[in-house]
Amino acid sequence: MVSEAVHKSMQGNKRSDTRPELLLRALLRSSGLTGYRLQWKIPGHPDIAWPGKKVALFVNGCFWHRCPRCKLSMPKSNVEYWSAKFAANQKRDRRVRAELEEAGWIVHTVWECELKKKAVDATVADLFPQLAAELGKKLRLRETED
Ligand SMILES: [Zn+2]
Repeated sequence: MVSEAVHKSMQGNKRSDTRPELLLRALLRSSGLTGYRLQWKIPGHPDIAWPGKKVALFVNGCFWHRCPRCKLSMPKSNVEYWSAKFAANQKRDRRVRAELEEAGWIVHTVWECELKKKAVDATVADLFPQLAAELGKKLRLRETED
């Protein structure tokens, strides 16, 4: 039996167009950081990538990728299964990052919790100026959205 929370996380583990990812894309567009491609065909298929600038951005689900900020507890049942699964995910994340960096890509990871209402402004304030510099784009200031 899969618990409700795990089930929800699984549904949230679709490859693209998750809610946090859609939010981030909307923010990128409104900030003038356009021209990205989705699921670009390089190791790890980053959710968002600017291939011409070799800038890649992964939007990581906290549950599957074991967010260091959230410090999620291990599911109560099937502990061995989950431990192996999470270890494999983390290993793949590290390998993908290393491969991309080796190939000259700049790799960003945004955790889904960093896109929640309370955290998103700080995330944008931190990340977007970096992206703008890497992309050689001018950051458009956003109107406050609430
Ligand atoms: Zn998190």
